[in-house]
Amino acid sequence: MKDKPFAITLEVGSSLANKTGAWRSERPVYVDRLPPCNDACPAGEDIQGWLYRAEEGDYEGAWRLLVQENPLPAIMGRVCYRPCEGACNRAQLDEAVGINAVERFLGDEALRRGWRFDPPPADTGKRVLVVGGGPCGLSAAYHLRRFGHAVRIVDADHRLGGMMQAGIPAYRLPREVMAAEIDRIIELGVEVELGTRIGDVERARRDGGFDAALVAVGAQLSHRVDIPAGDSARIVDALSLLRSVEDQAPIEVGRRVAVYGGGDTAFDAARTARRLGATDAVVVYRRNRERMPAHDAELDEAEAEGIKIRWLSTVVHADEGRLVIEKMRLDESGFPQPTGELEELEADSLVLAVGQDTDLSLVQGVSGVSVEDGVVEVGNDLMTGHPGIFAGGDAVPGERSVTTAVGHGKRAARRIDSYLKGEAGRPDADRELASFEHLNTWYYADAPRQVRPELDVARRSTTFDEVVGGLDESNALFEARRCLSCGNCLECDNCYGVCPDNAVLKLGPGQRYAIDYDYCKGCGICVAECPCGAITMVPEAI
Ligand SMILES: Cc1cc2nc3c(=O)[nH]c(=O)nc-3n(C[C@H](O)[C@H](O)[C@H](O)COP(=O)(O)OP(=O)(O)OC[C@H]3O[C@@H](n4cnc5c(N)ncnc54)[C@H](O)[C@@H]3O)c2cc1C
Ligand code: SF4
Ligand code: SF4
Ligand code: SF4
Repeated sequence: MKDKPFAITLEVGSSLANKTGAWRSERPVYVDRLPPCNDACPAGEDIQGWLYRAEEGDYEGAWRLLVQENPLPAIMGRVCYRPCEGACNRAQLDEAVGINAVERFLGDEALRRGWRFDPPPADTGKRVLVVGGGPCGLSAAYHLRRFGHAVRIVDADHRLGGMMQAGIPAYRLPREVMAAEIDRIIELGVEVELGTRIGDVERARRDGGFDAALVAVGAQLSHRVDIPAGDSARIVDALSLLRSVEDQAPIEVGRRVAVYGGGDTAFDAARTARRLGATDAVVVYRRNRERMPAHDAELDEAEAEGIKIRWLSTVVHADEGRLVIEKMRLDESGFPQPTGELEELEADSLVLAVGQDTDLSLVQGVSGVSVEDGVVEVGNDLMTGHPGIFAGGDAVPGERSVTTAVGHGKRAARRIDSYLKGEAGRPDADRELASFEHLNTWYYADAPRQVRPELDVARRSTTFDEVVGGLDESNALFEARRCLSCGNCLECDNCYGVCPDNAVLKLGPGQRYAIDYDYCKGCGICVAECPCGAITMVPEAI
């Protein structure tokens, strides 16, 4: 786009135009609107900004901008549910920009080339305790180090990563990728204490001389359901199954496996069972597809691997080698109701994947901290009712995802920094959203979305090799260039060229443009011809 000879470029005031005088009623001004992708990213990434750098081939610059907000792009590029793409304006033109694929490319490129984070500033003398080394705790530790605070992560597990390690299977998130991104954070000087379960966060904070603490303990407990079962029925919970694989001691599930649940964990358990040798893996779910919480990508990949689904079904009894299933129907409010219609399903084991609960014993008895519906109550600043104790990730209300946890970690770190400095937290800047209507799409060429390669289905059911591959450089570059730069100047020179009065000043590469109002008549052509909605008309001050 940038090299397109859009514009005839004359010097300001070089045409026959005269100075405007006082008749203009509106004037154009340059704006930076908020791209909808940025708005939708739970980690608060400046997506348009890093795509803009990537599309010029400045991958390191793009990565450095990205990690201002999120230190785990190679992980994000594999596990994020991509709400940014759901909001992308390009979807109204053809298909959403493959933001996540470019993010993965940048993350992988950084690992391949050994790019490091900038060293942290001088120590502030403040110390923060982070309980939990999952994505929330890791993100918080990263941002706190960048403020110069000392951080100690304490985790009950013998390795960092939280559910990224204990839950998400290696065929979706290779462990060497995860470990490399975690190590890069720890290298900033984060202290780590593994194998220690904190029983009382306030006491740990006091005894350790910490100035603040973050509770980032996730939702580590499998939710329990009571299914009547014979003595020899084999019932296992999904988290135990996934953890056992991670610990290289997989639980025996047999050749015919039924998984009860409808979230992503259910499909991860079924796909893992396939890789452990199950020939039949069936997900039993009480509702229908519209009401299933699992994401489309997970369901599609599972179905491609031969996972079957019993919709509108519940398990009423488990015995050795067989389950009794009851058909369900949805009532007017979409709630499943029993029909009394029973069927048998042959299954050597039943895997329960019906959600996770949080063990919040570490905040019980801490004055001011309240727990509601199994999660910690926090304010907008992620602080609990106890000054200096913050909480985030799966342990607080909200969506449970790696990206949300990373976003919480960042927000908590920023608020902890304000708290430690005795400042009121700065509210996020309010920017107008760059909607599709702000764009002049005439200027954008057709460009099909690049597709990521996938491992052959035949090889998927026997190995834990990564299923979805990454884009190569030329595809990633092409994908980055599909971005419309919504609401932010892409320096195409259009306004500079179309202005009939040559009132637009070009300030130089990266410096953008300015308007010489002595010459601008307020005709608004620049606004109409800006491809990305980066100029708006405002009423003239009277
Ligand atoms: C099977 C599965 C698959 C998933 N797949 C995806 C996916 O593809 N994409 C996605 O975005 N999200 C996915 N999620 C959800 C995602 O993993 C979580 O939302 C995210 O990891 C939450 O991050 P967190 O930091 O809050 O907690 P966690 O990742 O759970 O980490 C919490 C950490 O705290 C430690 N801890 C707990 N209690 C204590 C204590 N008292 N003292 C010390 N340490 C303690 C734990 O050992 C753990 O390491 C998945 C979840 C599961 C279960
Ligand atoms: S983290 Fe997720 S939502 Fe944010 S840019 Fe990446 S893919 Fe999009
Ligand atoms: S086109 Fe680019 S800036 Fe616009 S929403 Fe999509 S990714 Fe974001
Ligand atoms: S403001 Fe719009 S028209 Fe002017 S250079 Fe930037 S993108 Fe192009």
